[in-house]
Amino acid sequence: MTADAVVFERVSKSFGAVRAVDDVSFALPRGALVTLLGPSGCGKTTTLRLIAGLELPTRGRIEIAGRDVTRLAAAERRIAMVFQSYALFPHMTVVENVAYGLVVGGARRTEAEAEAGAMLASLGLEGLGQRLPAELSGGQQQRVAVARALVLRPEVLLFDEPLSNLDARLRRRVREDIRDLQKRLGLSVIYVTHDQQEALAVSDLVCVMRSGRIAQMGTPTELYDDPADAFVADFMGEANVIAGEVLGPGRIVLGGTTLEAAMRDHPPGPAQIAVRPEAVSLRREGEGLKGRVSRAAFLGQTREYEVETDAGTIFVVTPASAEAFAPGEAVICRLERVIPLRG
Ligand code: ATP
Repeated sequence: MTADAVVFERVSKSFGAVRAVDDVSFALPRGALVTLLGPSGCGKTTTLRLIAGLELPTRGRIEIAGRDVTRLAAAERRIAMVFQSYALFPHMTVVENVAYGLVVGGARRTEAEAEAGAMLASLGLEGLGQRLPAELSGGQQQRVAVARALVLRPEVLLFDEPLSNLDARLRRRVREDIRDLQKRLGLSVIYVTHDQQEALAVSDLVCVMRSGRIAQMGTPTELYDDPADAFVADFMGEANVIAGEVLGPGRIVLGGTTLEAAMRDHPPGPAQIAVRPEAVSLRREGEGLKGRVSRAAFLGQTREYEVETDAGTIFVVTPASAEAFAPGEAVICRLERVIPLRG
């Protein structure tokens, strides 16, 4: 039982001239929630569909729970997928929807419906079994779609942008529900999203994709604090990426000024340096990068600034409780932490 949930060995998928997935290898652990994150067209959905068996790879090998499934049909893979649109059958009741896969799989209707009822109860949907999907809220429909997938006891549960049909407030609640359920049942979940906050909030591991390849895979904090390159730095939250130089441990040059800041080890020499907006504090005097505020905005919990410096324009976010500055004021940017990029 130690096999990974999903393994890709040098998997490619082309559609004509487009390489939607380009020589991708990874091992996604069991019992974890892994998100596939990246901009539109980077290959997330194709990767998910390859796992599901809805696409077959042009090259490479795919394993699910230790079994080679490369050439198996979707129905033989012991996966279940929750679609963006939920894809509930509108003319069937909730309990019939959830029981459907079991019935198709050969279970007797009464048993299938009993199991469906138990699954609905464990997701807090008791009492809704006799309704039609149209008589449910968006969040409830989402949970019915999850119940319908889980009742099949899949090795891996796949989610394709599961929250995109929900409003912002509900989205946060439903993503917490999915995360709680995943932890409670120890499910192996692969989750596609293009929303980096959603990915940070729910994942054990995030796999950032770019142009059909994996840009970086790691825990949310690894990707945020230690992005490999400017693409990942910028995609995982915001970053000021500045051409500078590393002098030695904790010492860099930006815009001609020598600065001290916490940073990971990096060989001395020219480097792209990423600076998170919240890793900068603004002062009136002291050591740091001199600049002038060109824009200032109050956002309630935070203040946002643009500061013109010799190293270029730096975007800064400070807590609203910190001292406020107005456009035109001279400031010192103190960099608490910087990230020298490898790529
Ligand atoms: P989005 O967030 O927009 O859904 P994505 O990251 O999920 O994007 P994919 O849907 O996997 O990206 O698409 C990757 C690339 O493959 C894109 O260039 C897309 O146009 C192409 N592609 C995907 N499916 C097909 C198909 N069935 N036929 C032709 N090209 C396709």
